[in-house]
Amino acid sequence: MVHQNVLQLIGNTPIVKAQHLDTGVCELYLKLECMNPGGSIKDRIGLKMIEAAEARGDIRPGATLVEGTAGNTGIGLALVAQQKGYRLLLVVPDKMSREKIFNLRAMGAEVVLTRSDVAKGHPQYYQDMAERIAAETPGAYFINQFGNPDNPAAHEQGTGPEVWEQMGGDMDAIVFGCGSSGTMTGISRFFAKTAPHVELVLADPVGSILAQYINEGVLSTKSGSWLVEGIGEDFLPGISDFSRVKKAYAISDRESFHAGRELLMKEGVLGGSSTGTLLAAALKYCREQTTPKKVVVFVPDTGNKYLSKMYNDYWMLDQGFLERPHHGDLRDLIL
Ligand code: PMP
Repeated sequence: MVHQNVLQLIGNTPIVKAQHLDTGVCELYLKLECMNPGGSIKDRIGLKMIEAAEARGDIRPGATLVEGTAGNTGIGLALVAQQKGYRLLLVVPDKMSREKIFNLRAMGAEVVLTRSDVAKGHPQYYQDMAERIAAETPGAYFINQFGNPDNPAAHEQGTGPEVWEQMGGDMDAIVFGCGSSGTMTGISRFFAKTAPHVELVLADPVGSILAQYINEGVLSTKSGSWLVEGIGEDFLPGISDFSRVKKAYAISDRESFHAGRELLMKEGVLGGSSTGTLLAAALKYCREQTTPKKVVVFVPDTGNKYLSKMYNDYWMLDQGFLERPHHGDLRDLIL
């Protein structure tokens, strides 16, 4: 089938069954969001948030769109903005991989880097800064993925039904991460209507406040920091609905990066850093089960964006996630 433009390639991503990972009594299925044209699940919301704003008459081609993003939403927006003729200005925290920033600039987006080590409320926090720039730029439209209902709607109307149909209506649990919370909220709403028995499992980086909120009902005001990109939060996003998520796993950076590398070596799937977190949580969930279950886990973005980080042994060594052998030969790195 010939597609008429690149935007038609967004969504309808394949699912592949894990064959070599140790999934206990369960079967694990990988939803390959890395195969969207911009390389991540966020292409879906880039398209939805722009087309819904167009349909409401809020924007017209030529307008300036402004957003704060960890990178992938920016790439999704850049793809759509470039195809439809919008100017795009993005505020990105400086911990994000160089590959993402280069990708954004190559697609014509204007990127403003800001501090990664400040929380919501600080003037240099990426979302606050994006909101301020949008307010100060005449005619600019603030996309606001963290408060925009079209973000979860993209997953409620697209991602959720796709997974359900691909699995032939036969699945027991789904594992996701939470950044803007669009995936979680949309998936949760879809399954609440269609198959409320499907268990919702959150994978969260150690340092984020979300796993503790779900497991203990405690909302911490103090977050830590983590290196995994795109998931974990220091506040509850405005669009978030955690009500049906009953189980969460807090996963360390080390475990996330090793799980991502294991996925590539065992299943041949090159996922990003959050994929590692989600996979580590999914494997924990699978191995805890005593009866067979079908579990779906997202591969939210491609590992191509992290070749200089989690897939680079020197970076892993520098971060202390790999140990250098005594004779110093990197070919014999100890995992
Ligand atoms: N993984 C990656 C790599 C991401 O960029 C994001 C989005 N920030 C997510 C997962 C989480 O998705 P959501 O924003 O829908 O919660």
